[in-house]
Amino acid sequence: MKQLWISYVSHVTRLFQSSYDSKTLPYWRDRIFADMIIYILPLSIIALIPGLLLSYKYELYGIFFGDIIVFALVFCCGFLPKISLNARKILFGIAVYTVALTMLYYLGSFGPGLVYLLAITFFVSLTYPRKQALWTAWINLGICLLYGLLIPYNIFESETLSLFDRQLNWFGISSNMIFLSFLFPFLVPRLYTGLQTHIESQNRLEKELKQEQMKLRESMRKLEDKNVELEQYAFIASHDLQEPLRTITSFLTLLKERQADKFDEKGLKYLRLALEGAQNMRMTVQDLLEFSSIGEENPEFRNVDINEVIEVIQSLLNKTISEQKATIQVESLPVIKTNQRLISQVFLNLITNALKYSKPGVPPVVKIGQVFNEEYWHFYVSDNGIGIEEEYFEKIFVIFQRLHDKNIYSGTGIGLAIVKKISDNFGGKVWVESIVNEGSIFHIQIPRI
Ligand code: ADP
Repeated sequence: MKQLWISYVSHVTRLFQSSYDSKTLPYWRDRIFADMIIYILPLSIIALIPGLLLSYKYELYGIFFGDIIVFALVFCCGFLPKISLNARKILFGIAVYTVALTMLYYLGSFGPGLVYLLAITFFVSLTYPRKQALWTAWINLGICLLYGLLIPYNIFESETLSLFDRQLNWFGISSNMIFLSFLFPFLVPRLYTGLQTHIESQNRLEKELKQEQMKLRESMRKLEDKNVELEQYAFIASHDLQEPLRTITSFLTLLKERQADKFDEKGLKYLRLALEGAQNMRMTVQDLLEFSSIGEENPEFRNVDINEVIEVIQSLLNKTISEQKATIQVESLPVIKTNQRLISQVFLNLITNALKYSKPGVPPVVKIGQVFNEEYWHFYVSDNGIGIEEEYFEKIFVIFQRLHDKNIYSGTGIGLAIVKKISDNFGGKVWVESIVNEGSIFHIQIPRI
């Protein structure tokens, strides 16, 4: 039974497909019509069978044939293939008018004819714009007037009442129907106005959203192109700069070592500054190369013991640690599946910074640990250094963004950009918490794989 109902509904829905876009009002008018027909078809059988039996029994053959014609019309409206939706609506309208007129003719002023006349206005109010609905109200008015005027000719019903009473009854009852017929075309479109405003604002919002998304996508694409270009440029420039820089540094070192006696004090100072400049530039070039090479090749992932990574870094930084009398406190860290070179680079940069940005005269205390998280490996590197103002929390991860003069804290401004790029490549994230003059905590999360 359920299956039968489902296939019946899908069949009627398919035949009653609206040609309008679902985001328009006419579409909803068509849709309501289709839904109406879906229920009216089976329900009309309930009204039809007793109607046929009664009219047959009392020999009201007009009603009998009227019922059959109406059912045939509704059936054609619901099941005839290849006719337009508008034709279906007209067929349905004719069917309801036929019922109304048959009822009026046979059952007179107290019969249900008036109800059907009202129903047609209601139906047209739901499925057509107000203008068409008002036509039906006028037609109803015309039918009722005509009926009233024909009463004296005794075409319709028996003469149990006086002519005056029959006409009075008729006009009294039908005026209520006329009143409602004019009411529907004004009330129902109000419903639609609300629906229309809602649909229109939704359409507008959707359109705006689509435009914004397109703009965003375009900007992202441009940004990505620019980034690739920039990285290629940085790679080529830094790669090509390496050789001449090495030559400059080695000749300046040679000059300083072998020809120092030929320079006066000023000359030696200039030589020292030139050497420092060249060395700074080499560091920048190396960091740039490192930065642009991340993500170039597919990194090899294997189990890496982070405790060992930290041990190696500690031994690399041994000299600085003892010079600064720094303390490094390491929690027990996990073995994780990752790329050894990249994760080492992350910790090296963070620990180097934690030592570098220490408060003058205060030995650095650097803590390295982990926070439990089901989805990510979450590590932190904290220090008791100079700290960072909140407004720079994001900026420091952008390449070449530095907060201090090179003469006070040396550096290239690439270290944290490298950390961010690696964590992005891992599908993770990095961020900082900090209080100026108290210290910073750098957090890094990378997905567990
Ligand atoms: P660099 O250290 O070479 O300048 P980074 O990218 O590593 O470049 O760091 C960017 C900036 O972030 C630094 O110039 C510094 O101002 C700030 N910074 C980084 N780490 C710390 C830290 N642990 N404490 C305070 N400031 C920091």
